[in-house]
Amino acid sequence: LIDIVNVSKSFGDNLVLDDLNLYIRENEFLTLLGPSGCGKTTLLRIIGGFETPDTGKVIFDGKDITDLAPNKRQLNTVFQKYALFTNMTIAENIAFGLKIKGKTKSYINDKIRYALKLVNLEGFEDRTPDSLSGGQQQRIAIARAIVNEPKVLLLDEPLGALDLKLRQDMQYELIRLKNELGITFVYVTHDQEEALTMSDTIVVMNQGYIQQIGTPEDIYNEPKNAFVADFIGESN
Ligand code: ATP
Repeated sequence: LIDIVNVSKSFGDNLVLDDLNLYIRENEFLTLLGPSGCGKTTLLRIIGGFETPDTGKVIFDGKDITDLAPNKRQLNTVFQKYALFTNMTIAENIAFGLKIKGKTKSYINDKIRYALKLVNLEGFEDRTPDSLSGGQQQRIAIARAIVNEPKVLLLDEPLGALDLKLRQDMQYELIRLKNELGITFVYVTHDQEEALTMSDTIVVMNQGYIQQIGTPEDIYNEPKNAFVADFIGESN
């Protein structure tokens, strides 16, 4: 579905992605895993259109989208900081993108109900973000992304701010959402266990390079080099 071709990116002298190639299949849960600073977020931002690569291309569904604005890409991004609009209700937060697209009121209301049900927050329409826990706010951020019917959801450490129990619940929910909605997930984390639990495919990165691509079983049982073995081993 998404083909990343020879992508490089530097910030000043800092080469963050070095001639990187990656294919993301439709409907897979693909995780970019690696230590802090390895370039995961930069790669996700390039896929989302928030950053332009110095060289290389991003192909989506056969089309070159390298220079396309984020809102023209049929994908939606959820960042660690959920950034809900605090002066709006939950319903208004979720409706925001749909209103811009000129959808009708009844369409929007149906979508809000549907999305709140999906993230197990039925009846939260009139609440405000500051009355919600961090986990609930993150679910709303995901609901807001889902109503736009993206083909792909890009998630950057979406569970990073949550405590362990909530994180496990949300991991389970994200997998359920992926299966129910049939959309492609590209997920960034530095948490080995999270990657091993949730992913169809794990991309282990270090210092701007892909060290290994494989299923959780491959990565865990047959690490390709010492870096992958050590990094995955740290989760035990
Ligand atoms: P983390 O988990 O800490 O976010 P990461 O693997 O996602 O790490 P990136 O955020 O992609 O890594 O950052 C990779 C490198 O690029 C880091 O050295 C970072 O300081 C640098 N970097 C990222 N964005 C910028 C920017 N806008 N300007 C300058 N340097 C940047």
